[in-house]
Amino acid sequence: MALIVQKFGGTSVANIERIRNVATKVKKELDLGNQVAVVVSAMSGVTNQLVGYVNELSPLATQAAWSEYDQVVSTGEQVTCGLLALCLQQMGIPARSFTGWQIPLQTDKAHGKARITHIEPDAINAALGEGMVAVVAGFQGIGPDGRITTLGRGGSDTSAVALAAALKAQRCDIYTDVDGVYTTDPRIVSGARKLDKISYEEMLEMASLGAKVLQTRSVEMAMNHGVVVQVLTSFADVPGTLLVNEEEIVEQKRITGIAYSRDEARITLTEIANIPGMSAALFGPLADANINVDMIVQNITEDGRATDITFTVPKGDLDRALAAVEKTRDKLQFKSLHADKNVAKVSIVGVGMRSHSGIAQTMFNALAEKNINILVISTSEIKISVLISEEYTELAVRALHAAFEMEQA
Ligand code: ADP
Ligand code: ASP
Ligand code: MG
Repeated sequence: MALIVQKFGGTSVANIERIRNVATKVKKELDLGNQVAVVVSAMSGVTNQLVGYVNELSPLATQAAWSEYDQVVSTGEQVTCGLLALCLQQMGIPARSFTGWQIPLQTDKAHGKARITHIEPDAINAALGEGMVAVVAGFQGIGPDGRITTLGRGGSDTSAVALAAALKAQRCDIYTDVDGVYTTDPRIVSGARKLDKISYEEMLEMASLGAKVLQTRSVEMAMNHGVVVQVLTSFADVPGTLLVNEEEIVEQKRITGIAYSRDEARITLTEIANIPGMSAALFGPLADANINVDMIVQNITEDGRATDITFTVPKGDLDRALAAVEKTRDKLQFKSLHADKNVAKVSIVGVGMRSHSGIAQTMFNALAEKNINILVISTSEIKISVLISEEYTELAVRALHAAFEMEQA
C-alpha cells in the first residue's frame, strides 16, 4: 500500500463546495488502494485578512508581537483542516484533523518565517494505521517554547513536502489553481506553456526568484530528501508538472522559465571612500538586522577615490534596512542615500544556459527593444536577473517570453 501526501491550496478549499471537491480527490486516491495524508491551506484570502488585522494593531517590532502574529495568522488552516475532516466523515471516510502542535511539527523560533526542525510521524502513522485519512493544517508548527509558529507565506507547500519526507510517502501532490508549472506565470503571459517536467534545481531558482507556485523551501526540502513532487490542479483531471532530476530531461531548451518579483527595493549610497572594509561595515549591520541583501553592484568613480554601492532588499524590510544603513553613516561617510520601492526583478532560468551562448545578449536586446532600462544585473550558473522599474514588469516578462520563443514546445 502506497502513502500519498496531497496538498490543497487556498482556492481549492475556498468554500464548502470546493472542500467537497477536494474530498472527492482524496477518495480517488483511497479507491486506488493508497493511504492518504492531506495538507490544507486556509481558504483563499483568509490569511491576507488575518495579516491585515494584525498590521492594523501592531508594527510587529518585537518577538512578543510576532508570537501573536503567528497565533492569529495560523488560524485559517485550523478551520479548513477541520472542515475537510468533517466532509470526509460525512462521506463515510474515517478522517481526523491535526494542527501543527498536535503532530507535532516542530520548528525553530523564527516566528513568521520558522523553519521545520523535526516532524514526529507517530501520531499520523497511528491514524493512518487505523484506516483514517490524516488532514493536516498547513503553514503552522510549534516552536521550542511551545508556541505556535508559521512557516512564511506560501508555507503549506513546505508543510506538505516535509510531511511527505517524514512519512516516506511515495509522492507529494501539490494541488493549486493552475494545472502545473508554466514557462512563466500564466496570469501574465497567456501563451505560457505548461512544463511536463522541471528539474529541482530550476524549480528552486524559479521559486526563489518569485514564481510563487511553490514555496522555495518546499523545493529545497524535496531536493534534499528526494521527495517526488507533482504540481497539478484540483479543478480538472489533467496531468501536471513533475519535479525531476536534471538527467531525466532529455532535450534542454536555452531557457526553461521566466520569473518576476515585485517584492524588491533598491538602496543606493554614493561616494563612499574607496578603502578596504567599507562593504563589511555596510553589510554587517544589515545581516545583524536579519535583512537579506540580494543584488549588489559597486561602481568606482573615475579617479578611484570613491565608490557607489547599490543593493536590493525585500520591500517589507526597506525601512529597517534604511535604519541599519543610517547607523553606518559616520564610518562610511557616504554623500547621499537613495531608496526606491518601485522596482522589480525579472529573471530567466534554465540549466540550458550552461551549454548555450548568447543568452544574456538575447535578454538585453529584448529589453532594449522595449526601451526598458536595466538598473542592476546579477547572474548565477543557471539564471540571469535584472532589476527594472516596476511599471515595466509585465512588459519585460512578455518580451522575454517572446524573445526566447518559449510558447513553442
Ligand atoms: P496556492 O494557493 O494553491 O498555494 P499560489 O497562489 O500560492 O497557490 O500559487 C499559484 C499561483 O502561482 C498561480 O495562480 C500563478 O499565478 C502563480 N505562478 C507564478 N509563476 C508561475 C509559473 N511559472 N507556473 C505556474 N504558476 C505560476
Ligand atoms: N495560508 C498561507 C498563506 O496564504 C499558507 C499557504 O497558503 O501556503 O500564505
Ligand atoms: Mg501557495
